Amino acid sequence: MMHRTGQMDSDIARVVITRAQIESRVRELAEQIVADHERLPADGEGITIIAVLTGAMIFCSDLMRAMPMRMKIGLLGVSSYPGTSVRTQGARLLTERTGDLRGRHVLVVDDILDSGSTLHLVKGMLNEHSPASVKACVLLRKQTEQARRTAVEYVGFDIPDEFVVGYGLDYDDYYRNLRDVVTLRREVIAGLG
Ligand code: 5GP
Ligand code: MG
Repeated sequence: MMHRTGQMDSDIARVVITRAQIESRVRELAEQIVADHERLPADGEGITIIAVLTGAMIFCSDLMRAMPMRMKIGLLGVSSYPGTSVRTQGARLLTERTGDLRGRHVLVVDDILDSGSTLHLVKGMLNEHSPASVKACVLLRKQTEQARRTAVEYVGFDIPDEFVVGYGLDYDDYYRNLRDVVTLRREVIAGLG
């Protein structure tokens, strides 16, 4: 059978996290988040999940479907790696569709924690809405000093400080639909290193 992937596969240098690893870790995280929430005083209102677009869209959609509990979904658009940049340019808030967060337990879901500037910006902004609590969940955390210093309640995987794509993460908005988390060959990334 002919296999057409628009050259995505040949751009991959190394698979860092496989789709099978992601699938099982997402289930574990979901169970842990639900169990932690059940320990809170019951309010019957569930939680509000805030997905940080665009990178968290795939992780968040898998995570929330693994959480059999009452929830609302909100969206925040944040840009930190515009276009072909592979280093953070500082987080900037682009869109805000959170719904009313007053008195609610909020869970921010992001793809990856690197410098921490995205989570810092987002948590600060959400706290202005007087929520009952704000926690954060990231699929990936880079092994950087800044990432280690950033408060985050749930982490899927710790990974080396390398530029990765796939499972929602992009390079110039491509590769988000790869099912594994991978590094790209150097030739593919203009201006890396
Ligand atoms: P931070 O604000 O913590 O420095 O970085 C978080 C954001 O930067 C992530 O939501 C993601 O959009 C982007 N980012 C950080 N590291 C990577 C990476 O290795 N690959 C990709 N594609 N995006 C990254
Ligand atoms: Mg992002």
